[in-house]
Amino acid sequence: MISCGTGPDNQKPPERGVTWELAQDRARRVSNLTYRMSWEVPADPAQPVQGQETIAFSLSDPQNGLVLDFQQPRENVLEVKANGQTANWSHFPDHIRVSSDNLRAGANQISIRFIAGNSPLNRHEDYLYTLFVPNRASAAFPCFDQPDLKARYHLTLEVPAAWTAAANARTVADERLGDQRRFVFEETKPVSTYLFAFAAGKFEIEESQWKGQPIRLFHRENDRARVSRNLPAIFELHRKALDWLEDYTGIGYPFDKFDFVAVPAFQFSGMEHPGAILYRDTSLFLDESATQNEILQRASLIAHETSHMWFGDLVTMQWFNDVWTKEVFANFMAAKIVNPSFPDVDHQLRFFLAHYPGAYEVDRTRGANSIRQQLENMNEAGSLYGAIIYQKAPIMMRQLELLIGEKAMQAGLREYLKSFSFSNATWPALVSILDKRTQADLAAWSRNWVEQPGRPSIRAELQLSSARVGSLRLTQDDPLGRQLVWPERVTPQMGGKGKAKSFEVNLAERSLTVKEAQGLPRPEFVLPDARGVGYGLFEIDEESRTYLLRNFQSLPEAVSRAAAWMTLYDALLEGQVAPGTFVRSGLGGLRTEPEEQNVNFLLNTLSTVYWGFLSESERSALAPDLEKETWKLLMAARSPSLKATCFKGFMRIAVTQPGIERLREVWDGRLKLPGLNLSEQDFMKLAWELAVRGVDDTPGILARQSRRIKNPDRGREFVFVAQAFSADPDNFFESLKKKENRKHEPWVLQALAYLHHPLRAQKSIKYIKPSLDMLEEIQATGDIFFAKGWLDATLSGHSSNEPAGIVREFLDSHPSFPPRLKAKIEQSADMLFRKAKLAE
Ligand SMILES: [Zn+2]
Repeated sequence: MISCGTGPDNQKPPERGVTWELAQDRARRVSNLTYRMSWEVPADPAQPVQGQETIAFSLSDPQNGLVLDFQQPRENVLEVKANGQTANWSHFPDHIRVSSDNLRAGANQISIRFIAGNSPLNRHEDYLYTLFVPNRASAAFPCFDQPDLKARYHLTLEVPAAWTAAANARTVADERLGDQRRFVFEETKPVSTYLFAFAAGKFEIEESQWKGQPIRLFHRENDRARVSRNLPAIFELHRKALDWLEDYTGIGYPFDKFDFVAVPAFQFSGMEHPGAILYRDTSLFLDESATQNEILQRASLIAHETSHMWFGDLVTMQWFNDVWTKEVFANFMAAKIVNPSFPDVDHQLRFFLAHYPGAYEVDRTRGANSIRQQLENMNEAGSLYGAIIYQKAPIMMRQLELLIGEKAMQAGLREYLKSFSFSNATWPALVSILDKRTQADLAAWSRNWVEQPGRPSIRAELQLSSARVGSLRLTQDDPLGRQLVWPERVTPQMGGKGKAKSFEVNLAERSLTVKEAQGLPRPEFVLPDARGVGYGLFEIDEESRTYLLRNFQSLPEAVSRAAAWMTLYDALLEGQVAPGTFVRSGLGGLRTEPEEQNVNFLLNTLSTVYWGFLSESERSALAPDLEKETWKLLMAARSPSLKATCFKGFMRIAVTQPGIERLREVWDGRLKLPGLNLSEQDFMKLAWELAVRGVDDTPGILARQSRRIKNPDRGREFVFVAQAFSADPDNFFESLKKKENRKHEPWVLQALAYLHHPLRAQKSIKYIKPSLDMLEEIQATGDIFFAKGWLDATLSGHSSNEPAGIVREFLDSHPSFPPRLKAKIEQSADMLFRKAKLAE
C-alpha cells in the first residue's frame, strides 16, 4: 500500500478484488451514479491510453471514505479530486480509497485522471475494443466494478483520424481535430460496468433498418463477396430476434440504438454490450461451405445476444453468482426465437443436440458444478462460466416450463422484467414470482436442479407377463449418494423392428409405473428417454443395449436416434460398450442417417471415440471403412451444408495414405468437390491438417498457404497457428508463457490443439505439467472461457495412461488449488481418466 497526502482514514486496507461485503456496503451507500469520461487513444498501441473521468453520485454516509476499484499500479493514477478539491486518497492493490474528509452526505463528484490498463482494451495495430466482463472495467479505469451499481455513462473518445468508433449510445458529435477524430456519445441508460463498451479502429460500416431506425454492422472483412453474401441474413436475424423479444416480453427494445461489431479473433462468440454487441467475425460471416450446424449456431448466437438486451442488460443479476440467470434466458429464448426462421429444421432435435451432450460432458465428471454457485469475490467471477450455465441451465428451464406451463412462464417473466427494469434481481426473486403461478413447490424444485451438481441415473425396469408387458417402472437414483430426486418430465420408449411406442410421464418422485405400457407386446428394447426431454444417465439393460447398437438407426424419429446414440455413448463411457463395437455401430448409423444434425452428431462422437478410445491397431483397422463411408456420404450429399459437414468430418478422421492424399489434392486444387466451395479459412485448416499429419513438404505447404491468404487478419492468424508445426515447438510453447503472446485467445487454443493432436500426443506430453502450472495465471489474465479452453486444448488429444497420471499427480500435489479451477481440471481430464480406468 502507498499512502498519498496526509491523514488517510485509519482503517485496514481493503481486500483485493471486490468482495461481497464491499459490494453490499457500496450498494447501500452509493446511488444516482454517472460517469462522464474522455479517453485519448493514440494510433501506436505501444503508447498509453489516457483517460479523465468525473464520477457523480449520491452518498448516504461519507464515514470511512469510499473505495473505488482500479486494478493498476499507483503510477497510473495521475490526479484525484473530490468535490473540486485535491483529494486525500490512498492506493491499494486493486483499489483507490478517497478519504471521508473530501466527501459529504448527498451529491459528490470525484474526478480522476488516469492511464488506462491496456489488457481489457484489446489494443491492436489499427483497432481496439473493450471487453470488461466480468470485472475488467476496473482494470481499465477507476470505477465501482459490481453489477448492481448501474450508471449512466457520458463518453468522449479521441482516436486517430482514420478510425471510426461505436459505443453503447448514439454518436452526437464526430469532428476532426488535426490528426485525431473526436466522437462524443449520448448519455447511456443505466448499465452495469461490465456492459459499458466501445470499439474503435479501421472498420467498414454496413447499415440497415429496423422499425425505421438504423442498425449498423462494423467489420474488418476485406472479402467483399463474403460480406454481401452474409449481410442480408445477419440483419434479418437481428430484426426477427428484436421483433420476437418485444412481442414475448411486452417491453419495447430498452436501449437507444442498435449496433454490432464483428471483431477478428474475438475471445467469445459474442458479448451483449447494449447498443454495441461484439461478435467474433467468423461467427457472423459464414463461408459458402458452412454446415447446417454453423448456420443454426449463427442464428442462435444472434438471438442469444439480442435476448440479453432484455435478460441481462435491462434486468441484471445483483451479483455474479446469478450470472447464469442471464445466460439461461438468453439460450432459452434463442431456442424459441430461431425456430420460425428455419421451418425445415427439427427443433426438438436441435434443442437436444445443442444442450444435452455439452451439459453431460461436465455433469458426468467429478468436477461438475451446480448451476448456481457461491461467489465471495468478483475476482473469481470469471471461473463461474461453463457448460452447466450455458447448456444445463436451459434444460432445467425447459423442465420448469413443462412444469408450470408456457403461459405462466411468459407472464412470470414479464412481471420480472417490468419489476426490475434498469435494475438488478436475484434468482430467488424470480422463483417467488413464478411460484405464485403454480401449485408446485418451486423453491424445493430449484434446490436440487439449481443448487446441486450432477444428474440422476434413471433406469427402466420391465416385468413381463407371458409375452406381454406386465409393468414398466422408471426409477431414478442419485449417483453421488445424496438421495436427491430431480422431478422431471421423461419420455420413455419401447419397441423393436422399426416400431416404437413413446410415453410422456412426470417422474416427480423416485419411482413411477408407466401405466400405458401395461399389456403391450414384449418389446425388444426399452429406452428410459427417447425424445430428448429427460435429463440423466439413462441406464439400459444388456438386451436393449445389444438391440440398439445394431438397430438404433431404424428408430423412426430423428430425435430418438440421437437420444439412443447419446445413451449408447454414455454406456461406452461407463465401460459397458467396447469402443470398436461403438464405432462400427456408428458407421452403420452413418450409412442410413437422413438427418444432417444427426450426421454431424455421429461424426463428432465417432471422431472422439476414434481418437480417444481406440488403440492404434483398432484405429488402423477401422480407418479405411470410416473414411470410405464419410467420403461416400460427402459425394452423395445433396445440400452444400451436408457436404460441408461430411468434409469437415473427413478432415478430422483421415489417417490412411489415400485419405491424406485426398486432403492434399483438395488443398492444392487438383481435386474439386462438386457443390462445395471452400473458403480461405477452409484452405488454412487443410494446410494445418496436412501439417499435423506430417506430410512431406510441410514447410512448403505452410509457406504457400501463407502467401495465398488475402485477408491480413487471417494471414496473421495462420502464421501464429503454424508455429505449432515448427521444427522446434518448445520455443513456441515457451513463448506462450508470456501474456502478450496469448493476446489472440482463439489462435492460442487452435495452435495448442494442434500441438497436442493425437498424432503428436507422445511428443507433447511434456507440455502438460507446465500448462497446469500456468493455469492460475491463465485464469487471472485471460478472458472468461480461456482457462477451460486451455485445459481442453491441452488434454483432449491425449489418451494414454501417462498424461492421466500427470494430471492426477498435479491434483494430488496441490490440495489447496482454487476449487473451481480444480473442478475445471477434473472436467477437462474426465475422458483421460475414464480411458485410463478402462485400460486397467
Ligand atoms: Zn450470453
